[in-house]
Amino acid sequence: MARRKKIYEGKAKILYEGPEPGTIVQYFKDDATAFNAEKKDVIDGKGVLNNRLSEFFMNGLAQIGVPTHFIRRLNMREQLVRSCEIVPLEVIVRNYAAGSMSKRLGIAEGTQLPRPIVEYCYKDDALGDPLVTEEHIAAFGWASQQDMEDILSLALRVNDFMSGVMLAVGIRLVDFKIEIGRVYDGDYQRLIIADEISPDSCRLWDIETGQKLDKDVFRRDLGNLTDAYSEVARRLGVLPKSNVTKPTLIN
Ligand code: C5P
Repeated sequence: MARRKKIYEGKAKILYEGPEPGTIVQYFKDDATAFNAEKKDVIDGKGVLNNRLSEFFMNGLAQIGVPTHFIRRLNMREQLVRSCEIVPLEVIVRNYAAGSMSKRLGIAEGTQLPRPIVEYCYKDDALGDPLVTEEHIAAFGWASQQDMEDILSLALRVNDFMSGVMLAVGIRLVDFKIEIGRVYDGDYQRLIIADEISPDSCRLWDIETGQKLDKDVFRRDLGNLTDAYSEVARRLGVLPKSNVTKPTLIN
């Protein structure tokens, strides 16, 4: 069988040429990295969970009319996505202070923000994805003024959707990161949600206990990452509930 052509290998995913023009196969690895890959490990099952969770969120977004690159899941670790040109920005939305914002501004983690705050980082691993302003984005031509308006609107819609979905299962969406893709339909360009939405790219805290159910479990050595992601998946109904006794002929 002919080998597929690898287009790109990142820290957590590999992209292969898709079966039809304009498509890409996105493969989810078990590799976990943090602090710009200074901390690394292989976490059994993480790729499978993120593939399923990203499918769940992207499908939900499509249902409320937010365009995404997701086409369909192919198997346990792969999904077919629409190929797009990635805008070189990490778009971060924060509802509660945490992580780099808490450090930068001296605000205690968990403090509710007066309103969702959107931040932009320039996607460049060698520079450690530095925070940039809309001035940098416009001056260096990474996105146009119209793009920035569309990106802000997409980011806030994703935030409302994700916050609601999580709230319904007792989880607080503290913050998250998305990436935006550009697609061309004839002469028109449109922006869509690309990459992945998963506990790798969100901060998710149990509302009752404050337990962290996201990649901070790995970053901060707080326990088993797969258990945390499985808990999110179970609550969302993406994975079958584990301790449900299967009916047998006897009971
Ligand atoms: O580290 P920081 O507090 O800026 O992260 C904000 C949010 O963006 C977190 O949910 C984190 O998981 C996500 N993020 C990401 N990829 C990065 C940087 C941040 O998914 N390169």
